[in-house]
Amino acid sequence: MNPSQIIARKRDGGSLSSPEIAEFIQGYARGSIPDYQMSALAMAIYWRGMDEAETAALTEQMLRSGEVLDGEDLPRRVDKHSTGGVGDKTSLVLAPLLACCGLKVPMISGRGLGATGGTLDKLESIPGFRTDLAVEEIRQVVSRVGCVITGATPNLVPADRKLYALRGVTATVASIPLITASIMSKKLAESLSALVLDVKFGSGAFMKTSDSARMLAQSMVATGARMGVRTTALLTDMNQPIGRLAGNAIEVDEAIACLSGRGPEDLLRLTLALATEILMLKNLASGPQQAESILRDHLCSGRAHQKFEEMVVAQGGDLNVPRRRAPESVVRAERSGYVLKIDTEALGMLIVDLGGGRKALGQEIDPSVGLEVLVRLGDHLEAGQPLVRIFARVNDHEWAASRIAAAIALEPMSGPDLPLIAQRITAVSQ
Ligand code: URA
Repeated sequence: MNPSQIIARKRDGGSLSSPEIAEFIQGYARGSIPDYQMSALAMAIYWRGMDEAETAALTEQMLRSGEVLDGEDLPRRVDKHSTGGVGDKTSLVLAPLLACCGLKVPMISGRGLGATGGTLDKLESIPGFRTDLAVEEIRQVVSRVGCVITGATPNLVPADRKLYALRGVTATVASIPLITASIMSKKLAESLSALVLDVKFGSGAFMKTSDSARMLAQSMVATGARMGVRTTALLTDMNQPIGRLAGNAIEVDEAIACLSGRGPEDLLRLTLALATEILMLKNLASGPQQAESILRDHLCSGRAHQKFEEMVVAQGGDLNVPRRRAPESVVRAERSGYVLKIDTEALGMLIVDLGGGRKALGQEIDPSVGLEVLVRLGDHLEAGQPLVRIFARVNDHEWAASRIAAAIALEPMSGPDLPLIAQRITAVSQ
C-alpha cells in the first residue's frame, strides 16, 4: 500500500496492520515520507484513534527509528515516567532509591514544558551537572552507580523528535495513541524490565480530568505489556503542587531533604508508592508493606542520599557549591477562609514568567527563582497568615504577589479531601 492509501484507510476508520505502520514510520524517519503525509496520518489518528495492537505497533516502530540502550544489566533495568506537574521532583529521589535496591535506573528525562517543570532543568541548577551524556557514558554511570538522569541522545527515537514537533503545529498533540507512542517509545528505548507511570490529573497537569488520565494510563500500561515490559500506572492528584517548593534549585533542596527521610509528607508518600510498584513488579518484596519498609530504611540510613551524591558526582555536579536563591518575600492571605482551590497551572506559569521556565525553545532559565507554597488544600487561614514565599528578582515581587492572590481561592467552606493516589492501573494479564 502506498502512503496515501494508508492515510485514507485510517481516515475512514479502518485498522492499520503492523507492516503498514512500520512502512509509514520508517519512511517518515528516513525522510522518504514527507511531513505533509505524516501530518495527514496524525490527524486521521487524532480523529479515529487506534486500537491496542496499532498503538503498540506505532510505539515499536518509533522505538526502532533510532538507537536503544542495550547492555548486560537488562533484567535489572527499571524506570518511572511522570506526565508532568508543578513541584514534582520525585525522579530525583526515586532513581537513587531504586538504585539502593540493586536495580539499574537509566532515566532519560525532559525539560520543562508549559507550566510543568523539567527534571533536567532542576538538576542543571547543581553547578557542573551534565545532562548531555552520550550512550556509552550512560551505560558506564548506570553500571557503576546504579542510576543516571540525563537527556535524550540525538539518535534516541528520532521519529518522535520529528513527529512531536509536527504534532505541535498541526493540533494533534492531544491524542491518546500518539501520546502513548511518544512517551512509551522513549521509555522502552531504555530496554527496561519494569516501568511505573505517574499519570497526573488536575489543575496542574496535562490531563485535567481523572477520566482522561485513566484512558491515557490504560493505553500506556497495555502498550508496555504488549511489548514485554511489566508496567503499572498510578493516577495521582495534581490539584496542588507536590511538596512545598516549586522552581529549580529549591526543588533540588527539597529532594535532598526527602532523600534523608525529612521531605514533605506528600512527596515522600508519592515516591514510596511509585518505588513500591517497581519492587512489586520485580518481586523484590512480598507485599507493599515490606517494600515500603525496605525503601524507608534506605532513606533513613542515609544510603539513598549517598547514592544521589554519587550520581551527581558521576555526572560532573558539585553539591558543595551553594545553590543561589533569589531574594524572597511573603504573600499573605487577604481574608480568612479555607483553601478551596489552587490554580496549580497558574502557579507553574508564574514560575515560567519569573524566569524559572522557558517561553521559547533554547531560552536560558534562572534556577534561583521559585515559590514556596505554604498552604495545602483544606487548610484554614486567618487574614494576614502567610500563603506563599516568592523567590524572585527584586522588581518582580509585586506583580507576582497579585498573581498568587488570584490563583489561591479562600472560601468560607472547604472542599472534599482528595486522595494523592486516586487509582492503580495494571495490565489485564498482570
Ligand atoms: N510527553 C511526550 O513525551 N509526548 C507527548 O506526546 C506528550 C507528552
